Amino acid sequence: MAQGVWTIAEQRDGAIRKITYEIVSEGRRLADALGQDLTVILLGSNIKEKAAELGQYGADRVMVCDDPKLEPYTTDAYVSVISGLVKNGDPAVLLVGASVEGKDLSSRLSAKLDVAMAQDCTVFAIEDGNLVATRPIYAGKAYAKVTFENSFPQMAAARPKVMELNEPDASKSAEVVDAEFTLDDGDLKTSVVDVLKDESGKVDLTEADKIVSGGRGMKGPENYKILEDLADLIGASVGASRSAVDAGWRPHSDQVGQTGKVVSPNLYVACGISGAIQHLAGMSTSKVIVAINKDEDAPIFQKADYGVVGDLFDVVPALTEEVKKYL
Ligand SMILES: Cc1cc2nc3c(=O)[nH]c(=O)nc-3n(C[C@H](O)[C@H](O)[C@H](O)COP(=O)(O)OP(=O)(O)OC[C@H]3O[C@@H](n4cnc5c(N)ncnc54)[C@H](O)[C@@H]3O)c2cc1C
Repeated sequence: MAQGVWTIAEQRDGAIRKITYEIVSEGRRLADALGQDLTVILLGSNIKEKAAELGQYGADRVMVCDDPKLEPYTTDAYVSVISGLVKNGDPAVLLVGASVEGKDLSSRLSAKLDVAMAQDCTVFAIEDGNLVATRPIYAGKAYAKVTFENSFPQMAAARPKVMELNEPDASKSAEVVDAEFTLDDGDLKTSVVDVLKDESGKVDLTEADKIVSGGRGMKGPENYKILEDLADLIGASVGASRSAVDAGWRPHSDQVGQTGKVVSPNLYVACGISGAIQHLAGMSTSKVIVAINKDEDAPIFQKADYGVVGDLFDVVPALTEEVKKYL
């Protein structure tokens, strides 16, 4: 019988990504609710020393797969290794992060394992010994509760920055195990030739704690300077609506929404963004939403916790000056 909760860790260049701590924290809560163990799978090259710290967030065991072919991430290699481990280990629940990499991995992995999976979940619970996952549907207009009928592992991906992070407990550590796995060259159909890094030093939107976003109301690319000034001051990243991206004002990597990035920062400041449903789909799980718009009937105000009706070219610089007084 399927037993235990497993999560798949995400690392880049040997550094554990924040989404990993989030799903380990959530995995711990689910494992406790089931009265079962939590195992984390960590793949990479020379990665073993990072394994023990996952115990501080609640992992009982970390299975390390160490191989030069597992660095950097490729879908082929990771799916090949993880599917083998899951088939042997037979976990009841398998959690992945719904990050860019996690979405890529989990969709292929679920097909390989021939199990159902729920993508981009915002809430998990255990009911009658089974996983119940809540996920947004219709671009966030409604939420569906999903169960996995006789499909094991019950596989789901958690939206980044939504799951509550456990306080790391330095007195706890995980059992670290070298996993036995096979990685046939025949399974490796792609190889990474080059990795082009974002040299801006800015935090990726999906991991940002605060985001200041601008839409068509910014009127041109040069005006983003006022958002960047505010963002630099409060340690935020700058995002954009699709209109701004389609106009060529901002790169696609800045786009928030249904066809952009899904973000859940603690603070989302929407400037000159109307609040179309496709934009809301990408940011409505933000903890605090501030909207600045000159149209008092703009739909964004229905989602906002704080709204300023006014011209953003007056309001944003004034806000920046006010913030300076507190720093
Ligand atoms: C399949 C599909 C996928 C899509 N995916 C996305 C997506 O991922 N992300 C996304 O954002 N959109 C997406 N869209 C587009 C979406 O429907 C909207 O067209 C878009 O979000 C509108 O962008 P906006 O709010 O910047 O522009 P607008 O809707 O034109 O709104 C501009 C706002 O700025 C305000 N404004 C103007 N000047 C000022 C000023 N000086 N001060 C203050 N306020 C001012 C206006 O009152 C207005 O509310 C998608 C659409 C489709 C069909």
